[in-house]
Amino acid sequence: MAPNGQDLSYQGNGDSRKRVLQSVSSEELRKHDKPDDLWISIEGKVYDVTEWLSRHPGGENALLSLAGQDVTDAFLAFHPGTAWSLLPQFQIGVLTDYEVSPIQADYRKLLTDLKRAGLYKNPVHVYGQYAAVMIPMFVLCVLGVIYSRSFFVHVGCGILLGLFWIQAGFMGHDIGHSGMFKTGVDKYLKLLVGALTGIGMQWWRNNHNAHHYSCNSVEYDPDIQYIPIFAITPKFFASLYSHFYKRTMAFDTPARLLVSYQHYTFYIVMALARVNLYAQTFIVALTKKMDFSTRAWELGALGVYWVWFLSLLSFLPNNYHRVAFVLASFATTGIQHVQFVLNHFSSPVYDGKPQSKTWFENQPLCEKYKLPYESVSWLEANLRVLRTLKAAALEARDVSKPAPALSKSLIWEAANARG
Ligand SMILES: [Zn+2]
Repeated sequence: MAPNGQDLSYQGNGDSRKRVLQSVSSEELRKHDKPDDLWISIEGKVYDVTEWLSRHPGGENALLSLAGQDVTDAFLAFHPGTAWSLLPQFQIGVLTDYEVSPIQADYRKLLTDLKRAGLYKNPVHVYGQYAAVMIPMFVLCVLGVIYSRSFFVHVGCGILLGLFWIQAGFMGHDIGHSGMFKTGVDKYLKLLVGALTGIGMQWWRNNHNAHHYSCNSVEYDPDIQYIPIFAITPKFFASLYSHFYKRTMAFDTPARLLVSYQHYTFYIVMALARVNLYAQTFIVALTKKMDFSTRAWELGALGVYWVWFLSLLSFLPNNYHRVAFVLASFATTGIQHVQFVLNHFSSPVYDGKPQSKTWFENQPLCEKYKLPYESVSWLEANLRVLRTLKAAALEARDVSKPAPALSKSLIWEAANARG
């Protein structure tokens, strides 16, 4: 089943065996990177996936971002084995200069070995254990709201709901990758997660897939595109175009002001970040291209969420209790938002289109190939984020100075030059 549960029985432009396959060079492949002329290569076979673009279960952006490239490693990582059977109908040629570097070969072998060892099989009973904790949390929260008059009990109930949402969010992640049962059941569980959290799975799919295939690309990765609130690199001061949001991220006067103080506002914004997720969820659910039934299910799940959530709030005795309850629940999930941005904000960023060939370098085999691999404590990661934000904030204040080269490490600058 596809990640969003779509029907994959698409029969594109016929059987490739009936077509004459052309020889295609990497240079030629690179030219076909537009929505109306979109080629990719997988293991040296060239596919014209223009017609498939709007039906791609992983979203259009995933294909557009890696268009005109050999995408073998991204394909292997993100698709179930069944996806291979869809490929022949799209094949138009063979890549003449297809090469597999030693690290690519090792990476693919590692992936195969891990799959064979059963490490990609999900221990489904673990989700049962999570549910055994989550259900009592949710029930306690509801009982506390309905039967207690105490302000502190209600704040506690908000915290319980926040913890419930955090755990539901992690489960939603696995389900969103179609990784829980790996069957059609996942589709309904996705809707359940949407109904429990108010976070739309269609929004999640677009956003999260981009996070995986274009991690820390300033123009492509939505997880670092937070203008006007945050800018983790002075690169954003040049009002870049976001290929994810399909609009310019204008670095205007209000943005400059907000970014100038971002190291002070970081945790406050994180505590309220859920508001943005609700808004993004509705923007995607109402405006993104998707078929009627997908949109209907998505909006239905969100409707269920808002009915139970607002009903729960109505049981609270007055608006002080309501505000405190909402703030407590949102701030608690803020811990998860901080966790989500830690790796992004404290790591190097890069310019331009994600490169499929280097994609796996962000994955394992670091020791053998001397690739940078970092593991730091939660505290250290938080400090790094604050240093990154502070360095960019100080740059933002200096109107006279043009944005420095991206290659300059902000972390280094912050630690050594600015203290
Ligand atoms: Zn993921």
